[in-house]
Amino acid sequence: MSKPTDLGKYRKAKRKETAAGKTLCQRGFHKWQFDGRKQFDVKLGKLISVERCTRCGATRNHIA
Ligand SMILES: [Zn+2]
Repeated sequence: MSKPTDLGKYRKAKRKETAAGKTLCQRGFHKWQFDGRKQFDVKLGKLISVERCTRCGATRNHIA
């Protein structure tokens, strides 16, 4: 029972999933999720919340 096919298949599927996600990210379709942090933007003089893409790890600021 040491056939690596199942694991290989799983990894391949996983890679495909990641690749698809990356493509989406490259097109600007990130999967934003609230990071749970809030920062004070000095330039704006406002409190902003940080959102992070669960796929590529990119962050964006969202004015609270
Ligand atoms: Zn992304």
